[in-house]
Amino acid sequence: MIRRLTAFVLLLVLSACRTLGPAPFGTAHESARRDSAIVILVSIDGWRHDYFDRFQPPNLARLAARGVRATGLMPQFPSKTFPNHYTLVTGLRLAHHGMVSNNMVAPDIPGRFGMSNREVLADPRWWGGEPIWNTVERQGKVAAAMFWPGSETVIGGRQATFWKPFDDRLPNRERVDQVLEWLRLPEGRRPSFLTLYFSDVDNAGHNMGPRSAEVREAGLRVDHSIGELVAGVEEQGLADRVNYVVVSDHGMAETSPDRVIVLDDYIDLDKVDVIDWSPVLALSPRDGNVEALYRALKGRHKALAVYRNREIPAVYGLAGHPRVPAVIGIADEGWSVVSRRQVTEWGAAGGHGGGAHGYDARTKSMQGLFIASGPELRSGLVVKPFENIHVYDLMCALLGIEPATNDGDPTVTRGMLR
Ligand code: AMP
Ligand code: ZN
Ligand code: ZN
Repeated sequence: MIRRLTAFVLLLVLSACRTLGPAPFGTAHESARRDSAIVILVSIDGWRHDYFDRFQPPNLARLAARGVRATGLMPQFPSKTFPNHYTLVTGLRLAHHGMVSNNMVAPDIPGRFGMSNREVLADPRWWGGEPIWNTVERQGKVAAAMFWPGSETVIGGRQATFWKPFDDRLPNRERVDQVLEWLRLPEGRRPSFLTLYFSDVDNAGHNMGPRSAEVREAGLRVDHSIGELVAGVEEQGLADRVNYVVVSDHGMAETSPDRVIVLDDYIDLDKVDVIDWSPVLALSPRDGNVEALYRALKGRHKALAVYRNREIPAVYGLAGHPRVPAVIGIADEGWSVVSRRQVTEWGAAGGHGGGAHGYDARTKSMQGLFIASGPELRSGLVVKPFENIHVYDLMCALLGIEPATNDGDPTVTRGMLR
């Protein structure tokens, strides 16, 4: 009742101001609030959409109860780490930002792109578009990245003021502490936008599968770290300024030693460059004979769809892309493309179950996590799954900054805003 009365009085004042001067009080107030808003983008790599209900993570549940949760976040194809993390921060589809795979080649860049090659990661030619930390800095604010694909690279001549070289051995507690330390900086140096990345859930999902006790333990461990983050933010008195956007890049499907496609059963591995293995096989014939390679694989295994680059179905959005090799194979959900040698090694180790991702992005098991919570966001809202291209526009709206041109549609997330 009191709230309603306050709102009514505010409305009266607002309309009076409108008649008095050109700058409406409400707008100026709102923009001042947005101007001081902070966004912390948290990625829990490989958190499948259904883990939220299954694990009942107390800290994520609290954020969701006070904020907005989607029942799924739809990734781009292939549902892999680098392509989707980079879509989350640019709002661009893969064909537009160029990060089409974790492993790739490009006609105009020598060598191969791979996640563990620091020199290659730092080459700006692989990274198109404008990541949000640059959008933030370009508009006079400060950004900080506690790990994120692309954050170690000078893109478009810019980089976040604060960033760290990727080191997955860094304990989660130290990652959280680093974010809190950046937030303690004085106004003007304090970042408005920060990232935070956790890999535990993806690792456990790969090793033990999405239904394992290990993935649940990893999920609850990361949830605990998020609790420490929220507590640290509250301790600093920043709770009324910080908006959390907690996402994952993709989900996880269960694999099995009984669902393997052994590549050397069909082709001579000495005659091809295998740029990516599984579940999206990417091949380039060493002798240039694309037709022979294509025919050797097309229709040979029921769980492997094979395409020439130009004929990749439109739904995947990658047909004719110069960074996609001549022939690709897409394994069905739960299947793995492997070599004979690998099968032998697994056999010796007692088989290999576990999990994988990268499959068709329309597969339910590939959907990830989305929770947004904070002063700028509505409370207790649960929405349907939406595509991860829309997260960039939402974060720009939370920060009151102008987004760069992107593939997202701000109206998709507008209803989440207060
Ligand atoms: P994926 O093969 O798609 O499951 O990739 C997940 C792995 O990507 C994680 O286990 C990390 O080791 C790695 N990764 C995540 N972020 C980065 C980064 N910023 N730089 C290098 N590697 C990363
Ligand atoms: Zn991932
Ligand atoms: Zn993974």
